[in-house]
Order: sequence, then C-alpha cells, then structure tokens
Amino acid sequence: MKKLRLTVWSEGLDPKLEPKAVYLFPDDINTYLASFLKENQDMEVSVHSQSEPDNGLSQEILDNTDVLVWWSHLYDQKLSDEAAARVVEAVLNGMGLLLLHSSMGSKPARILLGKSSNTGKYREVGELERVWAVNRSHPILAGLEKEYIDIPVSEMYGEPYGMPTPDDVVFISWFEGGEVLRSGVSWHKGAGKIFLFTPGHEEFPVYTIPEIQQVITNAVRWLTPVTGPQMHFAGNLGNVEPLSPITTEPYEETWKRMQNQ
Ligand code: ZN
Repeated sequence: MKKLRLTVWSEGLDPKLEPKAVYLFPDDINTYLASFLKENQDMEVSVHSQSEPDNGLSQEILDNTDVLVWWSHLYDQKLSDEAAARVVEAVLNGMGLLLLHSSMGSKPARILLGKSSNTGKYREVGELERVWAVNRSHPILAGLEKEYIDIPVSEMYGEPYGMPTPDDVVFISWFEGGEVLRSGVSWHKGAGKIFLFTPGHEEFPVYTIPEIQQVITNAVRWLTPVTGPQMHFAGNLGNVEPLSPITTEPYEETWKRMQNQ
C-alpha cells in the first residue's frame, strides 16, 4: 500500500516569548501533532520547522509531501519569500495544505488566498468555543458523534476574519463572548486543496481533545492529492496549437462578409 506522505511543519516556539506554549509543547507543536497522526498506519509522517535550512521547506521535502500541515503564529515574516513560493507552487500542482490556528496569516496562505487584513478580531481569555459541524455530508466529519465539539478553554477569533469566500464551510464556531467564526473552511486552488481549521491556540491544550485530533486526521485524508489529468498551472499556460483541425475560413474573410451584410 502506498502511504500518504505527510509533513508536519511549524514555526518553532520561543521559550522567552512563549513560555506557556513551551510548557505545553516541550518538543514544539509539530512533534505533538505528528505524535497522534503517526498512529495511522497509512501515513508516513515527517516533522520540520522554520529554523531548518531552507526553512524546512526545501524542494526535496515538498516533492516528497502529499499533504503539508502548517502551524504558524508570530514569525510569519521570518519565512523566506523563496520558501513561500515553493509551497504555493506545490499546492497549485496538487499538494494538500492544512492551515491550523492562525496560519491564515502565513506568507503562502496570503499568496494563495489573499487574506485581506493583518490581524483579525481576537481575545485570549480562555473562553468556551463551540465548534458546530454545519456540512453533514463532508468527509472531514467522519467518525464524529456529536454535531459540535466543545473546546472549554479557547482563544476567540471572530468575524469578519478577512478570508475570501470559501468553497465550502464545514465548521462554524460560536464563542462564549458572543462572536462567531467560519472555523473550518476549504478552497480548491489549481490541482491542490486547502483546509483552514482555526482551533489550536498554543497556550491551551486544544490539540489533546480527541474530536479535534479526529478532524485533523480526517482533514489530512481529504487533502490527499487526486491522481488526475496533468494540467498546466502557475504560469505554464501558453499559445497552443489546436488539438483538431479548425476548418473555418480565415477570420478576415468572415469579417469582410459581416461588414457587407
Ligand atoms: Zn493563538
């Protein structure tokens, strides 16, 4: 069986600036996410982070990635433009991209989706987030027993969130303080798919919730590239010869006749 090649990537945590996050994730968020994803026998999981050469996103790594899981928050501007461009190109050519928590602000997401504001609405008091499943036919909901997931301690991200209209809305979150957010949404870009799932603040143990792990696992599977026709994307379009002969008269003749009518 061909395994799904999964790369779990994060920007890294700074013990001075993010001590609570380092306490929760001593080996970084990428390693924690990989620890439960690795339990799936059909997935081959590698872990990379921004501090590595080529920002952990070399061409070789991306060429061997079917789905890229991305977690970033504070250091988006430190990612090189070259690494961002490689990720964008990989998505257009079929790689799946799972954007977690605030990763909508990352360079690749901004290029692919054009997020329209720098910072969305947020509040970090540890309130209840109720993540409602609103598209009951979507494969990302497989195995969930309830129609919502409660996150007892969460960071609020609220609408308007500056995202382009998604192709599909799978989850809408309601927060104890009153705001709402389209918190699980998808887009198709070229041959690739993108899923944004916003729960996952680094200072709260959101990723330990079994239903949240289930959604992330399902999302990875849904994002798997489709082995379909080879298409031309990302600048490969050009002036092409017809596939079958075109027998109409030269357009100058048609033009003359139309003028004489
Ligand atoms: Zn956060």
